[in-house]
Amino acid sequence: NRSDIHYFGAGPAPLPTAVLEKASSVLLNYKDKGIGLCEISHRSPEANEILEDAKKALSTLLDIPEDYEVLFLQSGGTGEFSAVVYNLVSIWVEKKRAKIAAELSSSSDSEEAKKAEVVNRLRKVVDEELKLDYLVTGSWSLKASQEAARLVGAKHVNIAADSRQVNNGKFGNIPAESEWKLTPRGSGGPALVYFCDNETVDGVEFPAFPQSLEGDDAPLVCADMSSNFISRKVDVRKYAVIFGGAQKNIGNTGIAIAIIRKSLLPPISTPATPDLMRELNLSVGPIVLDYPTIAKNNSLYNTLPIFDVWIAGQVMAGLVDTYGVKKIGGQEEISNDKARMIYDTLDKYPDVYRVVPDKSVRSRMNICFRVHGGDSEKEKAFLAGAEKHGLLGLKGHRSVGGIRASNYNAVSIEGAKCLVTYLEEYAKA
Ligand code: PMP
Repeated sequence: NRSDIHYFGAGPAPLPTAVLEKASSVLLNYKDKGIGLCEISHRSPEANEILEDAKKALSTLLDIPEDYEVLFLQSGGTGEFSAVVYNLVSIWVEKKRAKIAAELSSSSDSEEAKKAEVVNRLRKVVDEELKLDYLVTGSWSLKASQEAARLVGAKHVNIAADSRQVNNGKFGNIPAESEWKLTPRGSGGPALVYFCDNETVDGVEFPAFPQSLEGDDAPLVCADMSSNFISRKVDVRKYAVIFGGAQKNIGNTGIAIAIIRKSLLPPISTPATPDLMRELNLSVGPIVLDYPTIAKNNSLYNTLPIFDVWIAGQVMAGLVDTYGVKKIGGQEEISNDKARMIYDTLDKYPDVYRVVPDKSVRSRMNICFRVHGGDSEKEKAFLAGAEKHGLLGLKGHRSVGGIRASNYNAVSIEGAKCLVTYLEEYAKA
């Protein structure tokens, strides 16, 4: 029975029971219309209301400023690895094109010759100057950087930091900012600077927004918040794009959410045309990843899974109700308390448990540790014992093994306490 277990899966992850109970009824019959939520049109007034409510709840929780747009997408987190590249590179290219075109505007050459010269010069600029900066602090930012290299070519991807270089070839730390090799600001700077705020597999979370990405001439910062979305306060203004899949803290699998600075959308920013990008051996990408198109259509360019948006909206509205004026700060306190409780217990038994990441970057969301130095038989026994206690989903990611307790919002304080009790019992035994 649901009430007998506590689930610590990394995603898909637990959802509030009250939301699921309500979901089972709206699947059959939404607002007494006689049809269910998976059956109604995504263009109906009901769907529009669901979309607006979900946006409003997220905006309230995170204090999203007016000059940011919230988009609902079907890309998964992974699709956004590609979307940020396509969208921000095409903005970067268009800016460069406009500058070169302005420089050539007084030339007496024919319009056609000028156009050809613009492309010629642009090719050189792209070749020499296009850089996308990635901070690689775990397997998800690594994947994102690899996707960027696949889309625009490895020479344009600048790995500004790689945690493995300061941690014996493994993830588990974040290099000091003074060591980062960011593309210099000015003269265009990088098309984007990318980081993953919380690395789900490696249990590494940025303790705070990096100082070296702040300032008036800050680059366009993109952050993957898939696994720590709405778990702490965020100063949205510091980001060009924040994105995350819903299936951990927000809802069920099927949608991702992006928060994007409106000045990156038309009419203020214009992406390069598909033709121009083709001439430069680049691409504007598929239309379903095109932020201007999605924004212009209020996330309804194509059929959005409204049921998934409804779930996310209910989860977020629940947090708005629970925490009131504290907004996401209320959830942050709870998340921190639960994480502290679990880490303190692990630290209490150093002969039995070893937390994988460095203390300075421990994730509040994905608590990764080894039992008896990673002895696989003993870890199996630990997991079997946990299951007997109704503690599920604790197996570490297949790429790294070990144990991972995902401490998402829907994990109750009681759930965290049950885990602590088991950790104590196991260690003492
Ligand atoms: N980023 C992070 C931090 C993740 O944890 C995940 C999935 N676990 C992804 C991206 C990929 O998300 P998706 O499976 O929705 O593509």
